[in-house]
Amino acid sequence: MKGKKMLEELKPHEVFRWFEEITRIPHCSYKEEKLSSFLVEFAKERKLEWYQDEKKNVIIKKRASKGKEKAPAVILQGHMDMVCEKLADSNHNFDTDPLELAIEEDWLRANNTTLGGDDGIAVSYMLAILDSGEIQHGPLECLFTTSEEMGMEGAFAVTKEHLEGKYLFNIDGEVEGDLLVGCSGGIVITSTHPIEKEKVLGEAKSFRLKLQGLEGGHSGQEIHKSRGNSIKCIGRILYSEVENLRILSLKGGSKHNAIPTNSEAEFLLLGENTEEVLEKIHQKAEEIRKEYSVSDPNFEITIESWRL
Ligand SMILES: [Zn+2]
Repeated sequence: MKGKKMLEELKPHEVFRWFEEITRIPHCSYKEEKLSSFLVEFAKERKLEWYQDEKKNVIIKKRASKGKEKAPAVILQGHMDMVCEKLADSNHNFDTDPLELAIEEDWLRANNTTLGGDDGIAVSYMLAILDSGEIQHGPLECLFTTSEEMGMEGAFAVTKEHLEGKYLFNIDGEVEGDLLVGCSGGIVITSTHPIEKEKVLGEAKSFRLKLQGLEGGHSGQEIHKSRGNSIKCIGRILYSEVENLRILSLKGGSKHNAIPTNSEAEFLLLGENTEEVLEKIHQKAEEIRKEYSVSDPNFEITIESWRL
């Protein structure tokens, strides 16, 4: 297959040609510089008006096709960044390596890594339209934003001074063929709480509590499925014996837009009747596990003792 383009046969040809091109350019969230520069070069080569801001968002404008000058300007928008995840045994380097594409039946995917279809397909569509001499359109403003997956950070930095379009089409839908009016939103909250440290005096036993196997999913797409949130669950377990328990460490979740599947805590049980308290914690854990037995059948909660 050397020299041959993998996606040559896919239609629309121009869209997949650009898609293949951008899979060779690193573009993880917060690492969009190379793709952002590529877009600027693309605009320069075609003598299109462009603008790049400090968040690396890029706007490329294209004049209306002949006879369409009076049409209202339209903004097309998609995000440059992709979620970069790979299989545990993959040595793929997202900062340097091109993605390895594979076609399987009707599906295009990447070997060992995420594909970046979200939202590479939007970037590809926009490039194909900007590059085309045939597609008829009114005044176009293509807006390529950054760090969408991190909380739409790029989009938040976009100001209207470089945009005139009256209509905006966001090309980042969930279901093929659906056109939605409105959008989902997201918010990132940083919450800080003071912690009180204390010296352990007297008897104490140390334990490790692990929650895993929850289904998780996207915080927007799967939020209505009543799936367990491992951070909330671990909080409920620990809080149930708050009198006798002291937390040593606590962690959970991986991404702000993913329902947390795992969480872990190390804690101490104080006093003499630790067996009894531990039994109650086990009961609480079992109660919570059962609560989610339908939505999260693989939910597992383990408590093990360890030496401090
Ligand atoms: Zn997206």
